Amino acid sequence: MSEESRHLGFDTKAVRLGYKPDVSNNYSLMPPIGLSSTFQQDDPSTHRGFLYVRQNNPSRQILEKGFALLEDAKYSLCFSSGTSAISAVVQLLNTGDHIVSSEVIFGGTYRYFDEITGRVGITTTYVDARDPENVENALQANTKLVFLETPSNPLLSLCDIARIAEIVHRAPGILFAVDNTFLTSYYQRPLDMGADISVYSATKYLNGHTDVCMGAMCFNDDNLLPRLRYLQNNAGIGPSPFDCYLVYRSLKTLPVRLRHHMKNGLKVAQFLESHPLVTKVLCPWLPSHPQHELAKRQASGYTSMISFYVNGDLQQTSALLKKFRLINMAGSLGGVESLAEIPSVLSHASFPVGDRARLGITDNLVRLSVGLEDVDDIIADLDQALRSTLL
Ligand SMILES: *Cc1c(COP(=O)(O)O)cnc(C)c1O
Repeated sequence: MSEESRHLGFDTKAVRLGYKPDVSNNYSLMPPIGLSSTFQQDDPSTHRGFLYVRQNNPSRQILEKGFALLEDAKYSLCFSSGTSAISAVVQLLNTGDHIVSSEVIFGGTYRYFDEITGRVGITTTYVDARDPENVENALQANTKLVFLETPSNPLLSLCDIARIAEIVHRAPGILFAVDNTFLTSYYQRPLDMGADISVYSATKYLNGHTDVCMGAMCFNDDNLLPRLRYLQNNAGIGPSPFDCYLVYRSLKTLPVRLRHHMKNGLKVAQFLESHPLVTKVLCPWLPSHPQHELAKRQASGYTSMISFYVNGDLQQTSALLKKFRLINMAGSLGGVESLAEIPSVLSHASFPVGDRARLGITDNLVRLSVGLEDVDDIIADLDQALRSTLL
C-alpha cells in the first residue's frame, strides 16, 4: 500500500483503490480488463512481471492491491471462490496436523474440513467458540490452524477475535484465520484484532451484485506470501481476470451498499422482533442478542444478515418462503436483492441431524439476507407471507 493512501478514509480508498491512470493504461479512469492468458517474454527464462494468467495477471493484481488497501493489510490474494480461499489456508497444513474450528460455520466449510481435509489425515475439532476457553481446551500439540467464523452462518453467534488471538498465539506455530464474509473489512478488522488471516467469500457482500463467484484473503506475514501464492498458482485456484474486473468495480460502492444494507437490515430485524408469528430473531446488532456488547466492541457496524424462528414446522416454514412475492427464495447472501432460505434443508443440510437440533438449526429457522429494495416493500412482503401462512 502506498504511504499516500494510508490516511484516507474508507470511502475514498474504496473509490480510488490505489489505482492511478497513467501511460500504461492509456490514462483510463477505470483499469482495462486484461484477458490475455499469456504474456510475451524478452528472454526465455525470465518474464516482465506476468508469465501466464494462472500465475498472475494485471486484473487480479489490481484487485488484490485494492483489497489489501481496504483492509490496511500488507497482502491480499484472490481465489476462484470463498471455498478455494479456505482450501488454500488448509493446504498450508500437512498430514497429521489438527484444526480447531468454530462449530457453527458455513456448510461448505464443514464439508471441506470433514470430507476432504479429513481424508488426508488432517483432523478437525469443532467447538462452541462463543466461549474462548473452549478454543483453548481444544488445542493440541499438533494444532496448526484455528478457524473461526464470526458472525456465524446461519446462527449469527459471535467469537471474541482479540481474546482468541491472544490464546492461540501463546503457542507458537498456530495460524489463526477468521472468515469475515458476513461483515467485510468495512465493519470488522480481524487482522487488527490479532488474526493472522482474514478470509472472504467475495461472492457475497464484497461483490454484492449476485454475478460473480470469488474468494479473497488478507494477511500481513511476509512468510505466508510465497506459500499462499504458490498454492493460488499451483493448486489452480485463482479467479478469472473478468471476474476480478467485476469485483473491482463492486468494491467502489462497498461502503455505500453496506451502510444501506445495515439500515434496511435493522428495520427488518426490528419489525420481525415485534411480529406475533415470529418466536425469536437472531441479529447481533439488536440489544436482544446475547452477545450484543461484543458485537459493538469488535465491529463498527452490521450488515443485513438476520435469522429468525417462526411458529411452525418445516411444511409451514416452506410455505412461508413460497408466499414471498418480492423476497427471492434462494441460497447465497449479501447481494442487492433480498434472499431467504431454510438452512436445515439447504445451506446446512450436511450438518448431522443431531448437531442441527442441538445448535438450533431447526426446520423453523429462516435465514434472510436483506437487500437494497425499499425497506417498506420488504417488510410488507414479510408481513403478508407470515400472515397468510402461519395464521
Ligand atoms: C458462501 C460462504 C463461503 C463459501 O464461499 P463460496 O464463494 O461460495 O465458495 C464461506 N464462508 C461463508 C461465511 C460463506 O457465507
